[in-house]
Amino acid sequence: MTPALEVVDLVKHFGPVRAVDGVSLRVGSGEVVGLVGESGSGKSTLGRCVTRLVPVTSGEVRINGRDIARLSRRAVRPLRRDFTIVFQDPASSLNPRMTVAEIVAEPLRLHRIGTPSERRERVLDQLDQVGLRPEVARRYPHELSGGQRQRVSLARALVASPSLLVADEPTSALDVSVQASVLNLISRLQAELGFACLFITHDLAAVEFVAQRVAVMYLGKLVEVAEREQLFRAPLHPYTQALLSAAPIPDPVAQRNRQRIVLSGDIPSPVDPPSGCRFHTRCPVAVPRCSVEVPPLRQVAGSLVACHLADGSPQ
Ligand code: SF4
Repeated sequence: MTPALEVVDLVKHFGPVRAVDGVSLRVGSGEVVGLVGESGSGKSTLGRCVTRLVPVTSGEVRINGRDIARLSRRAVRPLRRDFTIVFQDPASSLNPRMTVAEIVAEPLRLHRIGTPSERRERVLDQLDQVGLRPEVARRYPHELSGGQRQRVSLARALVASPSLLVADEPTSALDVSVQASVLNLISRLQAELGFACLFITHDLAAVEFVAQRVAVMYLGKLVEVAEREQLFRAPLHPYTQALLSAAPIPDPVAQRNRQRIVLSGDIPSPVDPPSGCRFHTRCPVAVPRCSVEVPPLRQVAGSLVACHLADGSPQ
């Protein structure tokens, strides 16, 4: 089956900044893949390349089998019906001068879907689907709470039934109390509507909740891609191990007893990434060859891992 998204050797440089440096990743039809990493890992840039909000430097971005990486903005426009993005901060991504009804109807209007009355009906259905009452349709974004605004963003993103949703830190700007309800909503909508989703976040708990597979990014490259259970139970890459060891876990006994791997220093600059394995300057188990040889992303125990030591091979 053709994947909803297939990224092949994607590179995105902003001048000297090597934000994304050769990433290949697939999201199957109806699958949710979590993309995690610290800020500065390049994960949001990848999301923007996939949705062609920024042009790519090289590589392919196949949406349902069609490479959109080199199409002009104009040629991409009609295809946008099939892939959408929601951002971290709904306040800045919603037009403040439009009512909720106008905002949610916009993709239908742009893609000439339905008559005006069919669109009105569709908008009300869509608001209902994201848990908003019909009277919200007449309001403006500033009259809504952060959680309601993110629900409006989701309604707008999903109104034209896309096959791929890129969600870029969709809950990070929200109060902790509403994060869970928005996460639940995304998960429920995905199960009901069956769209594929690339869920970008630094929040491992969120990814564990929504994703079936997880890709871990460090300094412009993927370091591990694994099924969710495998990744959370037995992470293979030292960076994934460090990320997981730093994440809070609900069981206080387990929290007290586990070993925390503390990474030294900040993520290095993508202008001049370290040689060899990019993680070697912070890796607690690095060996001499790590600063010289780039570890390829390869199959180890059913996962993809970019580490010389992942399969216990000799140093
Ligand atoms: Fe650490 Fe070396 Fe593996 Fe990189 S290749 S993660 S530096 S052990």
